[in-house]
Amino acid sequence: MRWKNARQSQNIDDRRRKRSGKAMGGGIGAIIMALIAIFVFEKDPAMVMQEAMSARSGSAQQAADYVPTPEEEELAAFTSVVLAFTEDVWKNIYPQMTRKYQGAIKNYEEPVLVLFSGVTQTACGTGQAGMGPFYCPGDNQVYIDLNFFTELEQKFDAPGDFAQAYVIAHEVGHHIQNLLGISNQVQSRRQQLSKEQGNRLSVKLELQADYLAGVWAHHAQRDFNVL
Ligand SMILES: [Zn+2]
Repeated sequence: MRWKNARQSQNIDDRRRKRSGKAMGGGIGAIIMALIAIFVFEKDPAMVMQEAMSARSGSAQQAADYVPTPEEEELAAFTSVVLAFTEDVWKNIYPQMTRKYQGAIKNYEEPVLVLFSGVTQTACGTGQAGMGPFYCPGDNQVYIDLNFFTELEQKFDAPGDFAQAYVIAHEVGHHIQNLLGISNQVQSRRQQLSKEQGNRLSVKLELQADYLAGVWAHHAQRDFNVL
């Protein structure tokens, strides 16, 4: 991607130097956070508990004097540029969408993107790196631990900066769903459905976030020639 000289977003909340390693070290703390993950983020219990158990060993010794590597700093700059590209695209097309879906033109409200390391507090409960990037509708914020991009390359076999940009655009897609009221509609509909039907609706919400990431990619390429 062509991004190096592009604008960086002002909406980055960099919490990477504020590690909350102590909270993780207590053993029981990790278990409690895993339970929060299961109920608040609706994660698969077996997977989250496994992550919590393995997190117990490592996190206690995490140093307070954390210094990011040059590679990590480049990833942070890249993330900030991609967020700016999402702002520039959605600023243009979001008002047209609100006219169509809500009958009135509304301006785009930019989300804040939180960079964190390991664990962080959100309006949706405690966010953990093991969950992968996520969006919290309660505080309109996207949360990313940059280590996920290494996982994306190595564990999920999806290397390349466009894959990374797409992950960010997907989370911003959840923000668009939140602004348009789609997330709320799904949430209240889920309460009237069986667990299985509800899950199916959540999958559709995920697919729509992917679709919105694609809409972003199309406009970013057309207007800013990013690829
Ligand atoms: Zn998603």
